[in-house]
Amino acid sequence: MTGTNSFFVRTSGCNLRCWFCDTPYASWRPEGDQVSIADIVQAIEDSGVRHVVLTGGEPLLPKESVLLCEMLRERGHHITIETAGTIARDVACDLMSISPKFRTSAPDASEHPRWSELHEQRRMPIATMQTLIEQSADYQVKFVVDGSRDLEELQEIVAQLGVPAEKVWVMPQGVSNAELDQAATWLRPWTAERGFQYCDRMQIRWYGNRRGT
Ligand code: SF4
Repeated sequence: MTGTNSFFVRTSGCNLRCWFCDTPYASWRPEGDQVSIADIVQAIEDSGVRHVVLTGGEPLLPKESVLLCEMLRERGHHITIETAGTIARDVACDLMSISPKFRTSAPDASEHPRWSELHEQRRMPIATMQTLIEQSADYQVKFVVDGSRDLEELQEIVAQLGVPAEKVWVMPQGVSNAELDQAATWLRPWTAERGFQYCDRMQIRWYGNRRGT
């Protein structure tokens, strides 16, 4: 939630390979240290922060995420999971934030033929997304729109998921204030007309396109 002091846990590794991935160190070139669940929980407890955001990469890829969420909920933490919604896990959280990936998100097939194929196979399991939604206390479906070519598919996905408009968030792709401002001129009214929520990319506006923000 924008403006809420939160502890971010970022898992490294992803089952997709979006061409625009803004965390390539957790997808295309995964890196990071192995940290035990107990140590993560302890670090969160020591921080004194109640809200925890589990993100990635794809945070539902490691099955240990289920135990991490259980332990944090037992300790009274509010948990948001940011996921592409492609992996079924029996995991409990307070807010399941699902970001389905459009067909335009696939990597270039001439450069990455295997990943392009896998990406297309994996990116849109509607039944899995519905299960994640049903088992969560609350949810949102968040779309990052790169251009008008994504809008038809966005509406198809919303219809297939059967979610109400107020649960749908739309944000522009963009890595600079100028790009975000330009996208807002046409995407904001399109979003409002359909009763969806428009969301700017505040981390870009506040910190720029920088790692760790
Ligand atoms: S699903 Fe997310 S983390 Fe994975 S490649 Fe796409 S943008 Fe990156």
